[in-house]
Amino acid sequence: MILRARTILPIAAPPIEDGAVFIVGHQIRAVLPWRDLRPHLAEKVLDLGDVILLPGLVNAHCHLDYTSMAGQLPPPKTFTDWIAAITAAKTGWSYSDYAFSWLRGAHQLLRSGTTTVADIEVMPDLLPEVWDATPLRMFSFLEMTGIKSRRAPKDILREAVAQIETLSHSRHRAQLSPHAPYSTLPELLRLTGKISLKKNWRVAIHVAESVQEFEMFQHARGAMHDWLKRNERDNSDCGLGSPVAHLARHQLLGENVLAIHVNCLARGDATLLAKNKTHVVHCPRSHDYFKHPPFPRQRLAAAGVNLCLGTDSLATTRKTGRQLPELNLFAEMQMLAEKDKSLSPVEILKMATVNGARALGLAGKIGQLTKNSFADFIAIPSANKSDAAETVIAHTGPVHASMIDGRWVMPPTA
Ligand SMILES: [Zn+2]
Repeated sequence: MILRARTILPIAAPPIEDGAVFIVGHQIRAVLPWRDLRPHLAEKVLDLGDVILLPGLVNAHCHLDYTSMAGQLPPPKTFTDWIAAITAAKTGWSYSDYAFSWLRGAHQLLRSGTTTVADIEVMPDLLPEVWDATPLRMFSFLEMTGIKSRRAPKDILREAVAQIETLSHSRHRAQLSPHAPYSTLPELLRLTGKISLKKNWRVAIHVAESVQEFEMFQHARGAMHDWLKRNERDNSDCGLGSPVAHLARHQLLGENVLAIHVNCLARGDATLLAKNKTHVVHCPRSHDYFKHPPFPRQRLAAAGVNLCLGTDSLATTRKTGRQLPELNLFAEMQMLAEKDKSLSPVEILKMATVNGARALGLAGKIGQLTKNSFADFIAIPSANKSDAAETVIAHTGPVHASMIDGRWVMPPTA
């Protein structure tokens, strides 16, 4: 199949005006200017017209199963208030509520141009069913906690590993997610670090999300520290350094680790993350919902950390007017552009494509249009010839078309 488009944004290479993408099976064979296409190939062309063709977006952090909580939890005063609110909201949710919520979220992402998502799963039993029902490329991270349940870290991990090993799918993968430093014990982090290296798995962990979490680890004080102490968490791991330093101490920083949020840094943390090649995922609308301290993007970028974008969940996304929020990486890119004027549209687009691909270990395969990458891409309508990256960032509504693994999952609209 050959697709022709007015502009192609390969991301890892300069834009091509009047370009063509040559696809064989589920892979891209070539991305080139239309005039360089051999004449006999030009016979099997689908001309998409006035569109920008770009790689499908990579959502590096999401909680699909909380989609139905959209608009239900008003922004809280403190982070621990929010934990209490979501715990209460979840009570009474049945298996089918979670399944419905998950699928609704997957559909929202698909429509808004995401083709790969790193999702945190609280209900891994759903996965065989929901995996079959979505064309998205899934990285499903099984959430592990253990403070409330008081279960031994090795048992929690053993169960998650057993679940991962029963799951198999040609396009999807299951991986591990110790929830956060405050909701786990250090032993779970150490054991997860060890097994993920042995099995070549990715790990996702929320870290340094709130000031309360930062105070808990850095100074052994604050509302989160005291609340967890009352809930009998063994807080002897607090007061020894920042949440990022906590991960380092328990060998959970590495090239296979996605550190989610990282809103609060101690001196040396950015270097520590960069030195260990740990990826950081920023979720602009979730950050805005909680009114966290400014995201330390420049410090992280200056240290050389790979920065990606995620939607987080709709339980932490503000309503705009009467409209319920939807999962949408374009909305995240727009929020980031608004908050951080020093970032160019191209840099923002990279955070939502190639950088996420790198974090998930699929550099060269997703997040860019290049020879031998998967045929995962989207088309955005573009009525005028303004800057392509700027046009993409400003896009609202559904995408014009989306292909995953060489199959149209949203065929081009007429
Ligand atoms: Zn999250």
